[in-house]
Amino acid sequence: MSITIFENASVIDVVAGEILADRHVVVEGSTIKDVAEAPVASADARRIDLKGGTLMPGLIDSHVHVTAFSANFTELQRSSPFYVAAAAATIMGGMLDRGFTTVRDVGGGEFGLARAVEQGLIRGPRLIYGGKALSPTGGHGDVRLAGVDRHDDSYNQPGLGRIVDGVPDVRRHAREEIRRGAHHLKIMGNGGISSPTDRISSDQFSEEEIAAVVDEANMADLYVVVHAYTPRAIKRSVRLGVRSVEHGNLADQEAIDLIRERDAFLVPTLATYRALKDEGVEAGLPLELAAKIDDVLDAGINAVEMAQRAGVQMAYGTDLLGAMHRRQSSEFALRADVVPAADLIRAATVNGARLMRLENEIGQVKAGYRADLIVVDGNPLDDIGVLAAPEKTLRLVMARGIVTSDRLR
Ligand SMILES: [Zn+2]
Repeated sequence: MSITIFENASVIDVVAGEILADRHVVVEGSTIKDVAEAPVASADARRIDLKGGTLMPGLIDSHVHVTAFSANFTELQRSSPFYVAAAAATIMGGMLDRGFTTVRDVGGGEFGLARAVEQGLIRGPRLIYGGKALSPTGGHGDVRLAGVDRHDDSYNQPGLGRIVDGVPDVRRHAREEIRRGAHHLKIMGNGGISSPTDRISSDQFSEEEIAAVVDEANMADLYVVVHAYTPRAIKRSVRLGVRSVEHGNLADQEAIDLIRERDAFLVPTLATYRALKDEGVEAGLPLELAAKIDDVLDAGINAVEMAQRAGVQMAYGTDLLGAMHRRQSSEFALRADVVPAADLIRAATVNGARLMRLENEIGQVKAGYRADLIVVDGNPLDDIGVLAAPEKTLRLVMARGIVTSDRLR
């Protein structure tokens, strides 16, 4: 098995929030074998001298849509699945090149793409997926314009969501996603920006339907992810057993406290609202939907601040669409005013790993962990801007023990 040794590395211990100086990190095959304090003898190892440079775990983005090549979801659903797969390959390659070695797709990503990455057919981060998001008729996953009745609910239409109504339908489609290897199940809990006919404030799914999805997930040892902005939507989902609250922009103190009590996670995605405001229409968002952005844009940072004060576990998420994917690292800067650097690094490493129940496998530079590593210029614990600007600071990316980009020289 091939051996690589990163010598003279300043390793970030993300749990402690400190630098371990002068470490020698041994990678054998796809696994970290040792984080040694002294040089390691090995005759045929490839040696990479970091000369004090920062080595840290590969980043984890817990809210992406790898197939979202456009912000126009109606167009996405009408596209060729082959075209969408090709676009997804480009999007995923970009994520890897920004230092993200694992991403959690919460609508659209599925087993075929995950397998293509594993087999090396396409470049990309490890893909944790939930298949299509479940949405009621007229909900955030229903991309039909008001004048359209029919919809294509075959698996091979490449939309992000699927329309399901009523407990039996919800259970059947939850089982379909589980059958295809889903790592979690995603539901739409209230309205969204890019869906043509719903309002942000409308709850989606009855309590019976949400409870049914949670039940199906529990039976399969999985968990449920909810798209939710409003306090009401957050509270009813979390009370019914949903574990991962996405966005949460309009959360009130009671909703935040409930997330904390139930040991659930909040995955804010400030990056996408900023991006949609700046360039959403250019990236395909229908002009008539742009007004919905203002309902959630400014509130987002308040929710993050409340969650930080309450000690809610937060993961790093971005939710970007189309050409806006290039802003994936901006979430670090957008949360920096209210979240200390060490906690932001945890959000994008150990917290994401725990959310995905992969905390013994990824998210730390530790013996026995998967060799997902990045090298950056500067110390992100002192200046989180280091992680917000990978085009300037990111020197090397290693995923599963393979160097996928190298700008050390
Ligand atoms: Zn999303």
